[in-house]
Amino acid sequence: ANYLLTVICNDQSCIADNKSDCNKVERENKYSRELNEKFKDYFDNIRKAKESYQPCDKSKCSCHSNVIHEDLKRFKDGISKELVQNIKSKGTKYQIINHKLYRDPECMFPARCSGIEHFILELLPDLPNMEFVVNTRDWPQIHKQYGAFGPVFSFSKSNDYYDIMYPAWAFWEGGPAIELYPKGIGRWDIHRKQLSKIADEISWEKKMGKALFRGSRTSPERDPLVLLSREEPDLADAQYTKNQAWKTDADTLHAPPASEISFGEHCKYKYLFNFRGVAASFRFKHILLCKSLVFHVGNEWLEFFYPALKPWIHYIPVDAKATKQEIRELIEFVKNNDDIAREIAENGYQMIWDNLKMKDVSCYWKKLLKQYAKLLKYEPVMDENFIEIK
Ligand code: UDP
Repeated sequence: ANYLLTVICNDQSCIADNKSDCNKVERENKYSRELNEKFKDYFDNIRKAKESYQPCDKSKCSCHSNVIHEDLKRFKDGISKELVQNIKSKGTKYQIINHKLYRDPECMFPARCSGIEHFILELLPDLPNMEFVVNTRDWPQIHKQYGAFGPVFSFSKSNDYYDIMYPAWAFWEGGPAIELYPKGIGRWDIHRKQLSKIADEISWEKKMGKALFRGSRTSPERDPLVLLSREEPDLADAQYTKNQAWKTDADTLHAPPASEISFGEHCKYKYLFNFRGVAASFRFKHILLCKSLVFHVGNEWLEFFYPALKPWIHYIPVDAKATKQEIRELIEFVKNNDDIAREIAENGYQMIWDNLKMKDVSCYWKKLLKQYAKLLKYEPVMDENFIEIK
């Protein structure tokens, strides 16, 4: 019908008779012309990404090794005792002496320290003597422009920081506690297996052809998608849930809090959104295992495994400042290009499945601590006040 109207409207003599219909057709045609232009850009991005993509070496967590190299580069002249002393207050200090692990008795978040220690304890037989400071807060500590300087391990950072990234505690325990996961998100080994099984059970064809986001308002970058979903529920279901800081509906963008959705339930949707929270969100690695297409919003906040994931290959990147309209266009693009969406979804899954096993997390910790220890210019002396972690 639209095509016929277009023909009628192109015939100048008919325009007068069909004015309001013709205006509508003109608007729609303009929108689809603009959309096709946009789509051309997306196709270009995919072509370029494919041309420059080089799969990484899957052995011995090599896909992530360059991150260690980059993070330690700033300390290439060595790490003195004074440098460590400088930043002692930025986290919890650990010592490894004669293959035993010691720690300052104070840890701001005990479950997070435990999640970190799980990995270090199993590596002790292979680790040389060293000491290091681990930040268990969400936020990185060593800004490039101001404040103290020294080696601080943090789980997430942006390019504005010199923090050294380590695999988050939540690979084992101490992740955010929500109603669905009251003990806190952790045990990546179990989530991996469960999600991969669910992903195999729900074929691409069976998935709902719309976008899903469920989470709290830890960053306003999530607002445009939530607002789009209120206007066009057929395109996206994106709603805010409560977190511990929730007080009134204002904290869920003036709507009652939505109920939570488990990671497995996410897999029923073809398109899933990831956003930063306070820093990087633990959501990313989980939803990538759904074999659904992930839209990753913003590229500023990292965890150690993010650089191995490539835009337009493993996920579709979305600008952190994307408007509702830009997000709508991206969803329309994937809805109109099902094969592309499916291919990127599969790639994202495979990357995480192959290169973010518990073994890779352990391997990363080991490489990181060994390379860090090589930079220490002094032999650590055991602090009498520290406790041994077993
Ligand atoms: N989460 C979930 N289902 C929900 C809401 C949240 O699985 O319905 C998970 C989410 O994926 C994330 C964690 O709970 O890993 C905390 O999510 P939130 O959005 O509150 O904060 P974020 O850490 O993403 O900033």
